[in-house]
Amino acid sequence: MHPDFLLHPRLQALAAESCAALAPCFSLMEETTEYNQQKVLAAFLRNKVSETHFAGSTGYGYGDRGREVLETVFADVFGAESALVRHTFTCGTHTLAAALFGLLRPGEKMLCATGTPYDTLHPVIGLRGRGIGSLRDFGIGYRQVELDAQGRLDLPAIAEAVRRETPKLVYFQRSRGYTLRPSLSAAELGEAAAAVKSAVPETIVVADNCYGEFVEREEPTQRGVDLVAGSLIKNPGGGLARNGGYIAGRRDLVELCAHRMTAPGLGGEVGATLGLNRDLFMGLFHAPHVVGEALKTATFAAALFEKLGFSVSPQPFETRHDVVQAVRLGSAEALTAFCKGMQAGAPVDAFVSPEPWDMPGYDSKVVMAAGTFTMGASIELSADAPLRAPYAAWMQGGLNFHSAKMGVLLAAQSMLEGGHLPCIQ
Ligand SMILES: *Cc1c(COP(=O)(O)O)cnc(C)c1O
Repeated sequence: MHPDFLLHPRLQALAAESCAALAPCFSLMEETTEYNQQKVLAAFLRNKVSETHFAGSTGYGYGDRGREVLETVFADVFGAESALVRHTFTCGTHTLAAALFGLLRPGEKMLCATGTPYDTLHPVIGLRGRGIGSLRDFGIGYRQVELDAQGRLDLPAIAEAVRRETPKLVYFQRSRGYTLRPSLSAAELGEAAAAVKSAVPETIVVADNCYGEFVEREEPTQRGVDLVAGSLIKNPGGGLARNGGYIAGRRDLVELCAHRMTAPGLGGEVGATLGLNRDLFMGLFHAPHVVGEALKTATFAAALFEKLGFSVSPQPFETRHDVVQAVRLGSAEALTAFCKGMQAGAPVDAFVSPEPWDMPGYDSKVVMAAGTFTMGASIELSADAPLRAPYAAWMQGGLNFHSAKMGVLLAAQSMLEGGHLPCIQ
């Protein structure tokens, strides 16, 4: 080890044991990475990506060839008819909101089939409060079907709700978000889409694909989901996209979203790229590899913290459909020590010490570790921990395994120094 990193010998031994035990798991992940890298490369070749596509447009951005080719490449990779890939989407929530407002009309209904959606979608739907500008404000109804006791899709209940409520759109969240339920595979989403369509065939099936891209060989759109959306500062931006979002799916639906994204009549035909195309192409190119590194990091953290006596979700050898790893640390102090240690191993802002604070929209203090090149990019190693039961840290990302592994080890070392690793003292 490099002399600057003085890890406790027992931690070093547990890290080595974890990596040895995970070898078969890592080799399966590498097979997926390799396949997805070929999938992305094939889309680049098929669409004749060229240096001229990296030139940026200004103003209206009419006829921006780079933007058009980038969107065709994304569509190809997602097995979709069409895609929107824009740096003008400020974040994942904005992208998902553009999709929902693009598809739904007053008097229609949205049904969420994965229980309560990700927190930032609540104001979009209008789940609480006055809901200014929300779907509810525009007269769009909302229903949800809970996950079953194991946190899995309840297909009979979903089909029943689709027949009863006849929603225009059924929405699935693929990732676990900040809960302890399992993430959903593309195959499970495909099966659910089939159940929805066999109940009422014209229902639109949409999936929030955040954190799920390139974790498997197939994307939900290759299994019968009509439309997916996500953030470019997560998986598909490959750590190089500095902001943005994407929507991919059926051509008619993507077009509806485009008219909401810009203005009716303009759709996807405008949008200057200002020289950002190169980063977005290169980010997509790197994405399968970076997702592979993030998956190894999550799996390593699962194995290490399990050895240290904590309960982890998913388990080290469990099949993953997103890059998120939860570690139940048991107390507010342990969580804070974990985040401080992870921050201390970040390539950027390692010298700052994260403190729990009252974040708007949360009912408890939250502590975070994020020493990232792109602010808030959670494809880079990062952790969030609300200071409330079950006192779990949700971590994700890692641009490269070697560096992210050190971040995880420093999180453990910081807990050890704070007296939170009784198994080692
Ligand atoms: C990240 C994420 C979003 C969007 O969040 P932003 O922070 O706005 O990018 C939505 N759903 C899930 C499951 C997410 O992980």
